Amino acid sequence: MKNYYKVYNEHLFGNKLPDIPVVVVPFSEVDEMEEASGYDLEKFDLYAITFAEHEDEGNKVHGILMNDELPNQEETLLHEMIHVWQIINRRDRGHGKEFKKCIKFLRDVFPEWEETLV
Ligand SMILES: [Zn+2]
Repeated sequence: MKNYYKVYNEHLFGNKLPDIPVVVVPFSEVDEMEEASGYDLEKFDLYAITFAEHEDEGNKVHGILMNDELPNQEETLLHEMIHVWQIINRRDRGHGKEFKKCIKFLRDVFPEWEETLV
């Protein structure tokens, strides 16, 4: 996944995203992930999460954590990379208008992901 991160960063994000770890853990370790992250992961998209400082502490991103049973690893990684972009640029972090614009752009680049990239 780290390689995908590098390639996507270079080709889609102009290498503007920070060099952060992308960690994939077995689904069975999701509970530990949750504990380690301090977040309620069930609220997040399919147990993938982007670690960042809290809103008021700046725009540093620590890494991306995913579980190995995600059906669409590459798409999920890109989804999380959009969140990284949002954070370092201090944009709205949610899945709002701007996020949807990014997804639309990515669907044009990867038309085969039309159904799965959300
Ligand atoms: Zn998301």
